[in-house]
Amino acid sequence: MKYIVLDLEWNQTYHEKALAVQRELESRLRGEVIQIGAVMLDEKKNICGSFCVTVKPRFYKKIHRHVMRLTGIDQKQLDNGLPLREAMDAFYRFCGDDAIFLTWGPDDIPMLCDNLRANRLEAPWLSRNYDMQPMFNFDTDGAERKQRSLEYAMDYFHIEQTLPAHDALNDAYFTALVAQRLHLAEGVRRADEAKTDNLSLFVLGDADSGERGFSDIKSVFAAPQIVNPVCPLCGEPLEDADKLLHSKGQRYLRLYRCKTDGEIFTEVRLTRNINETWRARVTVYRATEEKITRYRDKLALKKDFAKKNRRRNKKAPTIEE
Ligand SMILES: [Zn+2]
Repeated sequence: MKYIVLDLEWNQTYHEKALAVQRELESRLRGEVIQIGAVMLDEKKNICGSFCVTVKPRFYKKIHRHVMRLTGIDQKQLDNGLPLREAMDAFYRFCGDDAIFLTWGPDDIPMLCDNLRANRLEAPWLSRNYDMQPMFNFDTDGAERKQRSLEYAMDYFHIEQTLPAHDALNDAYFTALVAQRLHLAEGVRRADEAKTDNLSLFVLGDADSGERGFSDIKSVFAAPQIVNPVCPLCGEPLEDADKLLHSKGQRYLRLYRCKTDGEIFTEVRLTRNINETWRARVTVYRATEEKITRYRDKLALKKDFAKKNRRRNKKAPTIEE
């Protein structure tokens, strides 16, 4: 077994062009991969190899000004890159089977998957992939879900930025230096456990794949799949809806019960489409005791806070939202 720390750079295009291409492909392609960088770590987390390839884009062929400025990759380099199929073959030869892929943040793997789909390619050997951000959070201050930048993690471990950023290999190298300081095996095990609790995942209002986005948050919560959720295990309606817990980053969590399968959470995460409408990513997962306790504690905290606020504002005129 080895760890492959992976970083990608991708090209972008202007909004109308991207929409047209995605409509044509009938799949999401927000960017096109132009560089794959990777650093291999052995089981003891020693660096034992590196890989870098420039990929020739097929749909967004012209380098975006902003991407060129950021990555230093120019049009000539792009034109001389390998087609994605060949680049992935070479990458596979480097990785071999039995690799665990690590990225900084949740974006690279979905981006790569979108690119593979657009090119009718498959790479099942990539399936064991993990985001290192939660591992970093767990090993440092335990703050879940905070998206810390790689720079933040490097600062934290006093790793000096000795090479320019936004080069896939350099970024993979610095991510690997962070990885060496984390409890990777435990992080992977925790992520695997969390995955087995996940029951279903779907996206509503994804404008990138041609759906109409939601014009406001209220209409998201009027969508039938959200108003009347069903249990992914038995297909029966979920019952006993508890209170909606709104957390930072437009996350909405609600506890339900399925008569057959017990307590189940639905989490709605809202993000903006490129046309400024909303899309909702809905995750349905098994409610473990630990998660229920955390949910109830947070609800109680909010209630407490609201009560205090009301008392404080008693004499002040209320402002309706
Ligand atoms: Zn059920």
